[in-house]
Amino acid sequence: MAISFVRKAKSVQQTVIEALQAKDLPKACPVCGQRSWVVAQGVTYLELGVPGTRYTTGYREEAIPCVPVVCNHCGNTLLFNLIVLGIWDQVRG
Ligand SMILES: [Zn+2]
Repeated sequence: MAISFVRKAKSVQQTVIEALQAKDLPKACPVCGQRSWVVAQGVTYLELGVPGTRYTTGYREEAIPCVPVVCNHCGNTLLFNLIVLGIWDQVRG
């Protein structure tokens, strides 16, 4: 029986946490003042619509990849742009 080794990739959450820690941002939620945050498990896309229409493009190339970070006390949700954080290439694999 062959033994296989699976290289475990760093989770998106861990990559985001490390990138945010490197920025040395304020830790308190601006709404409630608590310091309990949860990084969502996955990426959300802010799709860029076509100005003057109510329709969206449908193309991910025209969207901003973000990770939601949620205050565990009041639910305030912040979206961090993965391109600006410099981790988009790592996250998309
Ligand atoms: Zn809060």
